Amino acid sequence: MDLVSSWMNEAGMTSTIDSFGNLIGVYEGNDPSLTRLVIGSHIDTQPYAGRFDGTIGVLGAIEVIQLMQENHIKLERTIEIVSFADEEGARFNKGLFGVRALTGKLEAEEMELKDINGTTRAQALKDIELYPNHMEPPRYTPENVCAFLEMHIEQGPLLESQNLPVGIVSGISGPLWLTVEFEGHSGHAGAVPMGLRQDALVGAARVIHLFDEMVKSDLSHPTVGTVGFINNFPNSRNTISEKVTFTIDLRDLLPDRRKKYEDQLYQLITTTAQMYQLNYHITEDTNSDPKYCAGWIKEIMQEELTEMGQEPFELMSGPFHDSLIMADCCPYGMIFVRCEKGLSHHPNEYADIEDITIGTQLLYHTVTRIVNNKHLNVGGNTNESNIQTS
Ligand SMILES: [Zn+2]
Repeated sequence: MDLVSSWMNEAGMTSTIDSFGNLIGVYEGNDPSLTRLVIGSHIDTQPYAGRFDGTIGVLGAIEVIQLMQENHIKLERTIEIVSFADEEGARFNKGLFGVRALTGKLEAEEMELKDINGTTRAQALKDIELYPNHMEPPRYTPENVCAFLEMHIEQGPLLESQNLPVGIVSGISGPLWLTVEFEGHSGHAGAVPMGLRQDALVGAARVIHLFDEMVKSDLSHPTVGTVGFINNFPNSRNTISEKVTFTIDLRDLLPDRRKKYEDQLYQLITTTAQMYQLNYHITEDTNSDPKYCAGWIKEIMQEELTEMGQEPFELMSGPFHDSLIMADCCPYGMIFVRCEKGLSHHPNEYADIEDITIGTQLLYHTVTRIVNNKHLNVGGNTNESNIQTS
């Protein structure tokens, strides 16, 4: 963080670390009455991960300011570059911490969350001489921020398959997380005749298979569905399974389409329970709305990308980013940079410096267009879908 902070200073910014661990660089504009433009991402990572996730968004933003300083560009509007603290949530199992602190979205008990060694988040921050007070008024509000921009590696294979270095993000899809529990009857694997069984695992297997078939029935949609966790009881080769619990992760950029799949899934679970004479219970763990990138920011990016000689290409983000939270505060835009084989959260994660350069150029041109527009003084994101349905 000290190194990144020194790069911010070299680029002509004053940098501070707030009490939550966010590193903020300020490139002061001439007119303090204008709302700020905020750009950023994160430099924290996962325990077994790469060097590009988040980092290119912070370093790219610093490069944008560096270039402005070298070209002696003096701005009317203030720009702030943020390296958000703890986006990944790797230590306290709850991410997007810094960005939620900056926008007043922290939950009361959050400072008491513990890591695997029993250290609380409050203590961990105290250890590096940070004393956060989550009752402080947030730094960013719809009244003082005009827009947020983030550049990030794609973390998926779409740009590579299109042979494109960068893409314009249409929005971050909202995940629906469910936990499904099937309960049947256990019995001796050698004794209970097939016609008399209530096998919870067979029921779960049917749902898992048909859910996958359902979500991939139309591959022209970006809808994704995953069962990533299963617990089988008693999990013994000589016993029919009595109770199976598994999770559902369903994401889409269009809430109506996600709802359609959700309804089909509930139907599938009901029919399966009847077929195998199982009881079932469904718990909804998370139900987030998609957050759409602002149409006017996408338009600027499309024009600038065309000017740079690349056909604009739009894609959705399945993973969340700091943008997901900033979206509640102001209009936002995101640039995705191609990453090799779509691999991320892995030590072999890789993005080519030439692609990152193109992404940073697009970021620079977008920033220039936004800061030069004096009339942009209204924050608040309308979060309207301008995605074409097909
Ligand atoms: Zn990230």
